Amino acid sequence: MRIFDPHIHMTSRTTDDYEAMYAAGVRAVVEPSFWLGQPRTSVDSFTDYFDALLGWEPYRAAQFGIQHRCTIALNPKEANDPRCAGVLDVLPRYLAKDGVVAVGEIGYDSMTPEEDEALARQLELAVEHDLPVLVHTPHRDKAVGTRRTLDVVRESGIPPEHVLVDHLNELTVSMVADSGCWMGFSIYPHTKMSEDRMVRILQEHGTERMLVNSAADWGRSDPLKTRKTADAMLAAGFDADTVDQVMWGNPVAFYGQSGRLDLEDVKPDETALFEGNSVKRGGE
Ligand SMILES: [Zn+2]
Repeated sequence: MRIFDPHIHMTSRTTDDYEAMYAAGVRAVVEPSFWLGQPRTSVDSFTDYFDALLGWEPYRAAQFGIQHRCTIALNPKEANDPRCAGVLDVLPRYLAKDGVVAVGEIGYDSMTPEEDEALARQLELAVEHDLPVLVHTPHRDKAVGTRRTLDVVRESGIPPEHVLVDHLNELTVSMVADSGCWMGFSIYPHTKMSEDRMVRILQEHGTERMLVNSAADWGRSDPLKTRKTADAMLAAGFDADTVDQVMWGNPVAFYGQSGRLDLEDVKPDETALFEGNSVKRGGE
């Protein structure tokens, strides 16, 4: 099995996670830039983070046989903090870099006018740079927030096939399917979406334009949820090719639109690539 986790925050995960992910079949990940858990106080704090997503984290992932790419953006939550507004001005410099496969996560958190402005500006940037976008949907008022997100996406003129609308559930999947955008589902251990619910959604709505991610971060989350969902699909009677489409083909097709994925070196069948490699650690 080969797995591409299209949304995971590896910066907040350990090397044990990388080892377990590789053993489970994960060969590529996309790490969206996001909130750090506490407010950032200046634009410099973002640029240090973006640089780590483009330098240190791909290097760390490569030690474990996993290819790492990222998406760069001002996240919805911090769009409301005036100290962060200048991030929009440094984004073009980052969106030109090879390791960046999309603009994201953008979208709504509390649906404020400031979030409207940041979302519209970043959709424009995506069009200018001919990049896909990863759009976060709010965890509160999800149906209202998703509908409003789709309206803004439509008005921006970005082609729907360049848009991945994430954190969907049973209530929001149909409206995104109808929009022509790609559909993302974050599978969590205790809340929101589970692997069994995901299987039922795939049975009902099919596997076209469907992406499954762990969205693992520093909260309670599980970087192996992609593999667990793949196993649940197989147990429910999906064949191996269909599982491969959802877990590999779809994310490759979506982020491949950036022209910046290079998966030639991926070895799906090789195991324990990291064994016998001395893993370099930061600070040593
Ligand atoms: Zn995220």
